[in-house]
Amino acid sequence: MASNRESQNPVDLDDLYRDVILDHYRRPRNRGAREDATVSAEGFNPSCGDEIQLSVAILDGAVDGVGFGGSGCSISQSSASMMTEAMSGRSIDSARVMSKHVQQMLTDDSFDIDAVDLGDLEALSGVAKFPVRIKCGLLAWKVLDQVLANATGESISDDGDIPTRVTSG
Ligand code: ZN
Repeated sequence: MASNRESQNPVDLDDLYRDVILDHYRRPRNRGAREDATVSAEGFNPSCGDEIQLSVAILDGAVDGVGFGGSGCSISQSSASMMTEAMSGRSIDSARVMSKHVQQMLTDDSFDIDAVDLGDLEALSGVAKFPVRIKCGLLAWKVLDQVLANATGESISDDGDIPTRVTSG
């Protein structure tokens, strides 16, 4: 599973490949497109070659369910799998806040993880210690942001580093 580049990383890999991350990689949740999707989007992480497609059913201002597809490293795919579980049944507003918090956890050293309850998603906090893998962890959440914006009639541009776009909706 670990590529050669990963195995040569001198930092403790247990921080990166926590059990919950490995579990989602081996047994991805909500893999596959949803027939009832109202919004679909995709994104690409050029620095690692990861791809994620999301198909999301939005119902009454909430995320009814998320399906994901794509290919790439274990961090990108596990992050997507964990995201689909965390989003199910969540209001769009709450989904947005959670996405923001996860992205802060991955990118902002001053983010206080104890101030929020991210559940299993806290396992992704170790990815922040591996700068070359941060985009892998972010990818699914950047695609989700496109979906959530579309669901409320907005359009957002991606940040260029991780190209994302709505494909239908
Ligand atoms: Zn990756």
